Amino acid sequence: MYHHIKKLMYTVNVGEPDPRFGNMLLEQFGGANGELAAAMQYSIQGLNCEDPERKDLLMDIGTEELSHLEVVGTLARMHLKPLKKQKDIEQAEVDPLIVIAGGGGVSLFNSMGDAWTADYLKITGELDVDLRSNIAAEARAKIVYERLINFCDDPGSKDALQFLMTREITHMKAFTLALESMGKNPFSIGKIEPTPGLVDEYFNDSTGVGDEGEKDATGPWNSGDFKVIEFPQLEQGVENLSNGGSKRSHKREGTTEKVKKTA
Ligand code: MN
Ligand code: MN
Repeated sequence: MYHHIKKLMYTVNVGEPDPRFGNMLLEQFGGANGELAAAMQYSIQGLNCEDPERKDLLMDIGTEELSHLEVVGTLARMHLKPLKKQKDIEQAEVDPLIVIAGGGGVSLFNSMGDAWTADYLKITGELDVDLRSNIAAEARAKIVYERLINFCDDPGSKDALQFLMTREITHMKAFTLALESMGKNPFSIGKIEPTPGLVDEYFNDSTGVGDEGEKDATGPWNSGDFKVIEFPQLEQGVENLSNGGSKRSHKREGTTEKVKKTA
């Protein structure tokens, strides 16, 4: 059940309206990492969630995101409202969609005028996988708010954006701790085990030095437990890659073709 309270979650003050900035703010209203996407993603994950504790978390944060939508929508409208009155073609050009079709109000489009779409949502029905999507979504929302703050001179607008940006970090922490509290091995997803051996092979698929590229990098992503498989060996096909011989039951198609050497 949803109940609307006629009060913003955070008070919004705008000194000097800036329609161009209002248009940018729409990215967080109807954009890919915006508040409607967040609200829908978490709420619908919550509907699908059979873990009552984490369902509560998803519904809490999903509902808070709706309140964020109201704040950012109010803020965007305050910046865009002058477009309603002015007969200034230069201002109108900032966002013809809003001025001509929407009359200076906000609607569910991103800053480029693309309509909001459910394709923005990441919902798998696998709780730990969904929580990972949510951690990444919060990180993206945070960085978009940070960029908006960097493009804003109005103290009142900055203040509201700082609040919204901060809440995304709070959510990122909550989702991260919820995932950790599930006690799952972070590299174990789903139930089917990955193929032993193959899972620890790092394919050095981008090679070359000098004019042909930079030196190969080494880091935790391809050392330690990883076995590095060099590109030229791909000519032999994946079946023969690791050593001569470890038999594998899997087959990859398309690897028997010789790779043409151009050098
Ligand atoms: Mn939010
Ligand atoms: Mn959030």
